[in-house]
Amino acid sequence: MDANDFIRLEETFGAHNYRPLDVVLTRGEGIWVWDVEGKRYLDCLSSYSAVNQGHCHPRILEALRRQAATLTLTSRAFRNDQLGLFYREICALTRSHRVLPMNSGAEAVETVIKAVRKWGYQVKGVPADQAEIIVCADNFHGRTITIVGFSTDPQARDGFGPFTPGFRVIAFGDAAALERAITPATVAFLVEPIQGEAGVILPPAGYLAAAREICRRRGVVFILDEIQTGLGRTGKLLAEEHEGVEADLTLVGKALSGGFYPVSAVLSNSEVLGVLRPGEHGSTFGGNPLACAVAREALRVLVEEGMIENAAAMGDYFLSGLRSIRSDRVREVRGRGLMIGVELVGEAGDARGYSERLRELGILCKDTHGHTLRISPPLVIRRDDIDWALERLERVLTGH
Ligand SMILES: *Cc1c(COP(=O)(O)O)cnc(C)c1O
Repeated sequence: MDANDFIRLEETFGAHNYRPLDVVLTRGEGIWVWDVEGKRYLDCLSSYSAVNQGHCHPRILEALRRQAATLTLTSRAFRNDQLGLFYREICALTRSHRVLPMNSGAEAVETVIKAVRKWGYQVKGVPADQAEIIVCADNFHGRTITIVGFSTDPQARDGFGPFTPGFRVIAFGDAAALERAITPATVAFLVEPIQGEAGVILPPAGYLAAAREICRRRGVVFILDEIQTGLGRTGKLLAEEHEGVEADLTLVGKALSGGFYPVSAVLSNSEVLGVLRPGEHGSTFGGNPLACAVAREALRVLVEEGMIENAAAMGDYFLSGLRSIRSDRVREVRGRGLMIGVELVGEAGDARGYSERLRELGILCKDTHGHTLRISPPLVIRRDDIDWALERLERVLTGH
């Protein structure tokens, strides 16, 4: 079978809810992936930051192998000897008090919505069924009905109503708007430290600190969705550290397993998770021993192999290299650590063409919302790999 055969199978038998680049990948190692024809590419998407540790990291692979041969799934009807260790280690690393493990990122978001609503009724004294959660325009928090219901992206929400009530949308990066939007029924403010899917949008400096202060003063739970920004991507373990703040609740996922397995978690610094009682929330696979063993090793690898510091240094290097490319096709280069966006001049939809040309030159990246190229390689990338990429990016971005 060749690439066209695999593509035809996907198109024939699969739902068409994605429009991928027509590259059929078969193998990955570190920052590199290979297609079925043997061509090698630098992965500048990292599966939306789920493979921060690099493809098929040998230590995580070994942890997966070992645990898969020992015990994979117990359900939470019984205890297992990996869950407690995972809790202790992720709490120590992120300075959290309590953890609730799930699988996908969207499930972690759903979990936090349930927890803050319950907290609102039981602790804050919000009248039954009146709880309100404030979110930001252009957010991306996942794909469930509740989550797309508070999206402002027509593609994400049109045709999927009716939606869950209880959300209020404000502008991203506007602390005064947050202050104004809070009512006695507001239980939480949910925000991404940097909006990834929206096109790597950084809020003004001081925004997270201001939001933190407002939430504390007004008795509102401050939730950071760090599913994409977290676990080293921005050059810190969590992006909140750039402003020296601590959210009440933090969501992590994606790179929590280094790309081996869906693992997500709600991390709590407050007593909010304590409101959930037995039987009120759960997941068959959430907290299973295979997930926990993989996540434990994925976290260890990030720290012990210096990936977070490398993301900071290589992010600066990549950003300044991109900024030195002189092209009238580039409107702005922005980012933090290895979470980088190159916003292009021109009509929406153009970035796809750039992704196609980069693919021909051996770089895989993805446009977001038509006009921004997202560049987020695994955190193990080195200087000479970046030089290699910059040379190709310059050719494509300048049209030479
Ligand atoms: C990817 C992502 C999610 C959803 O995660 P899934 O595992 O795809 O459900 C939520 N929030 C942010 C910020 C994300 O980047």
